[in-house]
Amino acid sequence: MLRMMRTVLRMKSRFDITRLVRSNIRELVPYASARDEFPGSASVYLDANENPFNAPLNRYPDPKQRRLKEEIARLKSQDPACLFLGNGSDEGIDLLFRVLCEPGRDNVITVDPTYGMYGVCAAVNDVERRSVLLREDFSLDPDAVTGAVDEYTRLIFLCSPNNPTSNSLDRRSLLRIIDTVQCMVVVDEAYVDFSREGGLLPVLPGKKNLVVLQTFSKAWGLAGVRLGMLFAQRELIGYLTAVKYPYNISALTLDRVLESLREPAAMERWVDLILKERELLAERLGSLPFVQRIYPSDANFLLVKMDDSRRVYRYLMERGIIVRDRSSVPLCAGCLRITVGTGKENGLLLKALNAYV
Ligand code: PMP
Repeated sequence: MLRMMRTVLRMKSRFDITRLVRSNIRELVPYASARDEFPGSASVYLDANENPFNAPLNRYPDPKQRRLKEEIARLKSQDPACLFLGNGSDEGIDLLFRVLCEPGRDNVITVDPTYGMYGVCAAVNDVERRSVLLREDFSLDPDAVTGAVDEYTRLIFLCSPNNPTSNSLDRRSLLRIIDTVQCMVVVDEAYVDFSREGGLLPVLPGKKNLVVLQTFSKAWGLAGVRLGMLFAQRELIGYLTAVKYPYNISALTLDRVLESLREPAAMERWVDLILKERELLAERLGSLPFVQRIYPSDANFLLVKMDDSRRVYRYLMERGIIVRDRSSVPLCAGCLRITVGTGKENGLLLKALNAYV
């Protein structure tokens, strides 16, 4: 046991990201924009072929998003050099494929059922996806995950709290996977602000093969603005930055997120309200005769197993209430995923369900 641990530690100390990066990306000369070449402030800007009228939106935004990165890094107690900002977490997910996975050769592992974009990005990038199932109780089997890894595995996606199962994955199992494998492990924490468990950011500096995804789309209430955070070792951030579109985050997004960051109390208030509503909704759904099971949730939604879920789904849709039918997803037969809304919205849902026969 001790010998095995020493071997793992030795392997980790030699972990080298460049070995995982595609050769064309290692050799890439990134596009240098006008704003890259002159990042300072000046009185006359005639370098970027912008329109001199319609200030301030006539100007390209900062391609390195320096100010916003500093603010977010401070809030999350991380080094700004270890942060990548994308057009939603979805941009970070896609860029991980483009930087690390050689199409037609490499593979990634997803632990299903989970967020669908990992599989879509794998297909778009012509990368094999190996699916490992969660256990029946939605817990993570770390040995099944590490057992699916081979020399061409580049990414393992673990979503915690997981969408659509709504549970957090066991922290020790996550760490065991991270400490065992030689590829990058992506822990998607889109819903972490609703969770009782803290995420993995505090251990990030010591884990060279860890990527943590978070987003402004959920607890911060800014899904329309599109801003996702990807935290990782600085070398990987450098490769992602070299591949991204030069101005991937708009000036409107930068300004709006900075404004929200000045008022974190609003986010905390919303999270409190949503958690209270979640408990109330779970209790009331549980008393409906056709509801079989409500899975314990660590997120802002509930996975609910019921009799004839497709009929319930259609019934609600006919009444203008849209939930997500997850009944065709592995391990989720008979399940609808219901986002926690305002008290009024949840009341309308319950009223409709109480009239269902
Ligand atoms: N990760 C998970 C687990 C999600 O459920 C979602 C969106 N539903 C995302 C990422 C995408 O987030 P974003 O809006 O930041 O692209």
